[in-house]
Amino acid sequence: MRMKTTIMKKTARTVGAKPLCFEVLTIFPDIFTSYMNESLFKRAQKNKLVAVRTHNLRDFTDDQKHYKVDDRPFGGGPGMVLKVQPIWAAIKKITQSSSRKDKVLRKRPRTRTILFSTRGKKLDAAIARRLSRYDRIILICGRYEGVDERVAEHIADEEISIGDYVLSGGEIPALVLMEVVSRHIPGFLGKEESLEEINGSFPTYTRPEVFLPAKGKKWFVPKVLLSGDHKKIGEWRRVKR
Ligand code: SAH
Repeated sequence: MRMKTTIMKKTARTVGAKPLCFEVLTIFPDIFTSYMNESLFKRAQKNKLVAVRTHNLRDFTDDQKHYKVDDRPFGGGPGMVLKVQPIWAAIKKITQSSSRKDKVLRKRPRTRTILFSTRGKKLDAAIARRLSRYDRIILICGRYEGVDERVAEHIADEEISIGDYVLSGGEIPALVLMEVVSRHIPGFLGKEESLEEINGSFPTYTRPEVFLPAKGKKWFVPKVLLSGDHKKIGEWRRVKR
């Protein structure tokens, strides 16, 4: 118990018993099912460190005939653009339930709304750490040629890119963001992984000591790692980082 208090103090995250809630707006909610139900995310959701909810934008469109969420761009050009209306309707529903004081938090949940965009700020560990302090993060996944710019102008708090390349949608960026943000939540990582987080990454090897991929070929593990000399091993790892 004392241990837990210390960890919580180190971070600005004050939620305690309340999981960080990711609300994902997408037209492909199934993309998230498999990844979110494996490994660290599975455990983190069970331990109530994070909660992940997907919202299918098609459920929010006012086009009750064809359930269209996209339309042609004004001014012409190829491809289609995600409409502002379904995004607005989804956000309204999500934030309605959070506009009141939360019983566990005893305040309104701190919410951040993010639009994935190739023009956004590049995601890095500092942004992830900052975002991990919110109670709720709404993620808007673009598709097609992009999203009606009024979402960036009036709805999103910030636009984030995960790198200088174009993907076909914001779903992979959302998975990446959820993972890097969650790594900053105390208890999300196991012991060994947190160590790596603090010390940076160094090359690692495991058994066998010598791997024989083909006749006459030998792949060795650096001798220092087999020496048992932890001072030397520490030095080697610092250099190789
Ligand atoms: N025509 C746009 C690309 C749209 S790609 C352009 O050239 O910038 C469709 C959607 O995928 C985008 O709206 C965005 O939500 C998402 N996306 C694509 N690449 C991305 C990246 N590198 N980072 C974050 N989101 C990305």
